[in-house]
Amino acid sequence: MSYTRFDAVEEAFVRPPVKAVPPAPATSEYYGCYVFNRKNMRKYLSADTRQKVYESIEQGITLNRDVAEQVAAGMKRWAMDMGATHYTHWFQPLTGGTAEKHDSFAEPYGKGESLEEFTGKLLCQQEPDASSFPSGGLRNTFEARGYTAWDPSSPAFVMGDTLCIPTVFISYTGEALDYKAPLLKSEAAVSKAVADVLKYFGIKDDPVFSYLGWEQEYFLVDASLYAMRPDIIMAERTLVGHNSARNQQLEDHYFGCIPARVLEFMKDLEFECYKLGIPIKTRHNEVAPNQFEIAPVYEQANLAIDHNLELMAVMKTVAENHGFKVLLHEKPFAGINGSGKHCNWSLGTGSGIGLMSPGKNDKDNLRFLTFMANVLKAVYDNNGLLKASVMTASNSHRLGANEAPPAIISSFLGTQVSNAFKELLQSKDMVKIEGKSRFSLGIPQVPELLIDNTDRNRTSPFAFTGNRFEFRAVGSSANCASAVTVLNTIVAYQLTKFKEAVDKRIEAGTPAMQAVLDETRETYRACQNVCFDGNGYSDEWKEEAKRRGLDCETSAPLCYDSFLSEGTIKVYRETGVMSDVELKARTEINWNIYSKKIEIEARVLADLTANHILPVSTRYQNILLDNVSKMKDIFTDKGEFDQVASGEISMIKDIARHTSEARAQAVRMEEECDRIDAIECERERAIQYHDVIVPYLESIREHVDALEMIVDDEMWPLPKYRELLFIR
Ligand code: ADP
Ligand code: MG
Repeated sequence: MSYTRFDAVEEAFVRPPVKAVPPAPATSEYYGCYVFNRKNMRKYLSADTRQKVYESIEQGITLNRDVAEQVAAGMKRWAMDMGATHYTHWFQPLTGGTAEKHDSFAEPYGKGESLEEFTGKLLCQQEPDASSFPSGGLRNTFEARGYTAWDPSSPAFVMGDTLCIPTVFISYTGEALDYKAPLLKSEAAVSKAVADVLKYFGIKDDPVFSYLGWEQEYFLVDASLYAMRPDIIMAERTLVGHNSARNQQLEDHYFGCIPARVLEFMKDLEFECYKLGIPIKTRHNEVAPNQFEIAPVYEQANLAIDHNLELMAVMKTVAENHGFKVLLHEKPFAGINGSGKHCNWSLGTGSGIGLMSPGKNDKDNLRFLTFMANVLKAVYDNNGLLKASVMTASNSHRLGANEAPPAIISSFLGTQVSNAFKELLQSKDMVKIEGKSRFSLGIPQVPELLIDNTDRNRTSPFAFTGNRFEFRAVGSSANCASAVTVLNTIVAYQLTKFKEAVDKRIEAGTPAMQAVLDETRETYRACQNVCFDGNGYSDEWKEEAKRRGLDCETSAPLCYDSFLSEGTIKVYRETGVMSDVELKARTEINWNIYSKKIEIEARVLADLTANHILPVSTRYQNILLDNVSKMKDIFTDKGEFDQVASGEISMIKDIARHTSEARAQAVRMEEECDRIDAIECERERAIQYHDVIVPYLESIREHVDALEMIVDDEMWPLPKYRELLFIR
């Protein structure tokens, strides 16, 4: 007998929790032990070398060859002491996830002997054989190679037996082929633009950073049930599956008691994270059954993003040790909540000034309103682009569905900040500058501004939450760099325009603070349409948003057009974050990945339908047919026969209708895929996948799910929602 769904269910439901490895006594004793951080550098690098490394991290000064040699030597000794035998340049290709090619430290030198080698050159730069990573046409075959270059601002770490060196991945002609390179450029751009504006407020020589605190949502399913679902294995989501009678309607899972097996997994996961210096703080159940969240304390964005990518990799391994599979897909199950990755984003200075935190006096509050208005203006002017930065085939199941943010990017401010802005709009002559430094903003409630927004709006995609914005449209499987790069870039551009306008006012004789206030007022006036505190799910809002000029597009391939709009190209060119060639390449890749994802789903669904669902359905139909024809022998009276057999006869007809429709549609869908594949233009192909194939996926699923409700449970081959979704 072959292994059946019931064997898998039994395994899943009797599996005892695997005890988490007991952590060392206190987190502080092992926290960051797998990271080449300052503590470890002190043991392995000379004071001189360390100083150079710190300068490089803090001021972006390039390390010279000699110093790189010293760092490499120390890093190698440390990594080997931590059990590493290999090293890799760890980078973030546009396919998502991370890429690594492991090389051994071992350097055999003939005569059957070998040395451990790791040079400064190997640390700083490598040429991975990367010709199969997507480049959107940036690399012709003759320049097929790209190279990776060390990013000293994110520390190296040991994962398993490998020393991982965070790197950027660029083509030989210098174009970015990854997420990290543009992110670093966007950080530099926003840092400069903010610093220039901070000078009006008397703040100088205080480095500016963008900060990120992500909240990672995920699902867990039992490994044996996972193994019985080709759709989850291949497409990371269920392409078929009828709702279970009970799902999240009782709302009993959210913040509920964490199941024992899951808790052991979480403990192990946190232990691994702490060793990697990932500052995990929070764990809890999420809304849907089997859905959970893990969140750290916020960090500088570049580091936070690397940590999130490390987490996503670690989660998979730890889950496997506990008999789980972790699903990072945005919508693994229809009919219940999907997963996002809220990105809490803010700007702040090295000395600890939060630029999105209201202050204690008028001047600090003007600074607060200035940065708020500029962020809002940037979001208003680029709301289509911001949406494009988080739009993927998988995330499009969330955006616009009534569970997550709508596919319209607006901002929620809360009553207090909204009122402060309202007041500002009317406060034309209210700034009185007394002497040089004292002035009054004349907006009475601002200094009292409460940081805690009690009326938090869960439907807003870009909500102000007291000292930061929470961008909720980011998908759970995404690299947050995509969204953060856009945020940093558009804000950098906007602040530069703002500064130009303020300087003009000052040249025309307006005192500096008054000029800042006046320009802040005009900036807010020009973008107040992006602010919306109401219900983002309502149909009225969709109408209203259109009138306000917000981007309401929901088709992912069309959303990507925003990357190539004149406005976007200008913003990226002027901030120096990306050239139009790079934008073009990235957009091509987005279209290409979209098409591939949908095509995989279509091919998997066609296979599931033809080879799993239809054979079982017809077999069951045959049993019914057999039964009906035997009943005919017993119930010779036609009237009586009709009465007792009518139920089964209608089931037979239903099966016939659903199977024939599912079969016919699956065949047509595959033919359409073949036709679409022949289209050369990436954009057009993606549009066709969206317009033609996605509706097939939905409609075939309806037939299959109807069959699931008819066919004998014992015969159904695929684990059902009720089995997948309730961990014991
Ligand atoms: P929620 O109530 O939305 O679930 P959490 O407290 O779980 O919020 O997570 C909020 C995240 O925001 C955490 O990662 C936290 O460190 C981060 N955060 C807090 N302040 C800031 C800030 N100023 N900038 C960026 N992120 C921040
Ligand atoms: Mg949140």
